[in-house]
Amino acid sequence: AYVNGRYQDMRDASVNIEDRGYQFADGVYEVCEVRTGKLVDMPRHLTRLQRSLRELRIALPMPLSSLAVILHEVVRRNRVRFGIVYLQISRGVARRDHGFPLKPVRPSVVVTARTIDPAKGAANAARGIKVITVPENRWPRVDIKSTALLPNVLAKQAAREAGAYEAWYVDGDGFVTEGSSSNAWIVTKEGRVVTRPDSSGILSGVTRGVLIEALEALQIRFEERPFTPAEAVDAAEAFITASSMIVMPVVTIDGHAIGSGKPGPVARRLREQFHRFSAFS
Ligand code: PMP
Repeated sequence: AYVNGRYQDMRDASVNIEDRGYQFADGVYEVCEVRTGKLVDMPRHLTRLQRSLRELRIALPMPLSSLAVILHEVVRRNRVRFGIVYLQISRGVARRDHGFPLKPVRPSVVVTARTIDPAKGAANAARGIKVITVPENRWPRVDIKSTALLPNVLAKQAAREAGAYEAWYVDGDGFVTEGSSSNAWIVTKEGRVVTRPDSSGILSGVTRGVLIEALEALQIRFEERPFTPAEAVDAAEAFITASSMIVMPVVTIDGHAIGSGKPGPVARRLREQFHRFSAFS
């Protein structure tokens, strides 16, 4: 792990107990896919990181190019070929007080990487995953990729306890916002791919952004609008996207089968084609 300037064995790596990330979830993060030892779409992750930091008025602790070097170095030291690299930046260490530290402190930077067996994702994708719905109970600034993830933790745990893989939040108007750690999509019976606009109630996923460009290139019709769980159940297909799982077909929502109850051809195709449209570095 990289922790504030040092590369350390994961077992010895730790942060200060007065770190504001630990005490207030006063920090932001990114998760980038690692594929054949390369980082996938890293510039987009770093751009989003910069935005999240700006929204929380946390200073960028080093140039983005230096962060990129650290991400590569942690991947290299862990010999990760397939997996993820995780980056967290918190506001830093200060005596516990809710308001920002009066004297500026140095933000804390932590980077870890781990191997994920690609066969696992492939098996999930071949089978398709189950989704449950839960009421949207997060704060309104989910566009910031903050480490304040307790509602997401509880939603994912509810999914797990229901034998599902992901939970979709449903807002007060009855529309799906996104998953606890993914963006939500459907494919209508007319073959239109639909996802919620990133201007409201969702994190602007890097995978989502790349996939929208892929849809255009593949000449697949695309619509950016909210949809309900009922429309999803009635759709031809559904899937979720995130850097850690790319395109993952959904086969049931709250126990209701979608389409054939098997992963659909559009989701399968998009999963196969995705990396043609992403940037490796
Ligand atoms: N929404 C939420 C709430 C997430 O946590 C994630 C994954 N971190 C996503 C969407 C997907 O984002 P990305 O494609 O950038 O991984």
